[in-house]
Amino acid sequence: MTADAPWQRAARGAGLLGADGSIAATIFAEMSALATRTGAINLGQGFPDEDGPVEVLEAARDAISAGINQYPPGRGMPVLREAIAAHQSRFRGITLDPESEVLVTAGATEALAATILALVEAGDEVVTFEPFYDSYGAIIGLANGIHRTVPLRAPDFQPDLDDLRAAITDRTRLIIVNTPHNPTGSVFGPEVLQLIIELAQRHDAIIVTDEVYEHLVFEAQHVPIATLPGGRERTITISSGGKTFSTTGWKIGWLTAPAELVTAVLAVKQFLTYVNGAPFQPAIAVGLGLPDSFFTSAADTLRAKRDLLSSGLTDAGFTVSLPQAGYFVVADAAPLGHPDAVEFCRSLPALAGVVGVPITAFVHEDRRHEYASLVRFAYCKRTSVLEDAVARLARLNG
Ligand SMILES: *Cc1c(COP(=O)(O)O)cnc(C)c1O
Repeated sequence: MTADAPWQRAARGAGLLGADGSIAATIFAEMSALATRTGAINLGQGFPDEDGPVEVLEAARDAISAGINQYPPGRGMPVLREAIAAHQSRFRGITLDPESEVLVTAGATEALAATILALVEAGDEVVTFEPFYDSYGAIIGLANGIHRTVPLRAPDFQPDLDDLRAAITDRTRLIIVNTPHNPTGSVFGPEVLQLIIELAQRHDAIIVTDEVYEHLVFEAQHVPIATLPGGRERTITISSGGKTFSTTGWKIGWLTAPAELVTAVLAVKQFLTYVNGAPFQPAIAVGLGLPDSFFTSAADTLRAKRDLLSSGLTDAGFTVSLPQAGYFVVADAAPLGHPDAVEFCRSLPALAGVVGVPITAFVHEDRRHEYASLVRFAYCKRTSVLEDAVARLARLNG
């Protein structure tokens, strides 16, 4: 291998470049390309194939017509910050100052990136659960942080409390808690959340929550850490309109936190995007103000889709861990005689005309063997598409 060019060094250090200096190819891109090439049904990527509420879509069109097309304020448009505060009060019983405790971001992704870059110094440890949403690892790398993980194991993908105690130490700067969890669909119970707060207090760590699936919860109850005793004062709560309103392309996210933490994150955020999505901000504000019936029916509709795909996978011979929330179901291909999910996902378009993503895409190298045969499938798709996918998957069972 030749010496790195100066522009390659940092990116390689953060694990963003492959050995040949190209952008590290993700399995997501490979699988989507495979779906396009073969005409297979793409259950690999997690975006809905149907539009969200018409009121929200119309509000964006109206905003463009009304000339809301220039830079919004750095913290976000007041109408959206007020709607976020009202949402937190209505659903969580948390009272927030929309002026100082709310920040609008370019999706949850920018909220996470700005938070990590603002709060992590070189050598600080950041604890996440594993499997983890892939951007966590990349941004921790860019911040020169050290990524420690707590494994979530099948079938219920809840963390072990002793693993948690072992991972969080005085070296821990941030604890990133993604509940409801992608890719496993688990929702952490109160015992786990309470312990995270206790450990954060003991070791003076800051908690960052990723709650983008907060409204897409089925049997379990989602409890935000900021609502628990001792949680709010050390937690940055992150969410987004993308998953709730089926507007993943709009990239309107936000965080809520104590004012000093918001200011620290804003210091970085202003030089990442500065601002984004002017006409989409008032539209997401409309979404956050929709009646309770919208939120319950969004979850009910998705639960029916979860059931459809999960029972289809079970009938096809997979062992399924029934998700309690979110867009995805994890299925074990080992009982079908496929111990290597990467290989299996590459051949699935030929075997059954469907695409999924191996769970190893969400774990570190040293733990891949523990998740080797697991596949993530998205069920945030039209019922007719899922029915077609289920019929195709039945071929696997002879
Ligand atoms: C989709 C997703 C995000 C990204 O949210 P955006 O608002 O699109 O940036 C963040 N975290 C998790 C766990 C996700 O599934």
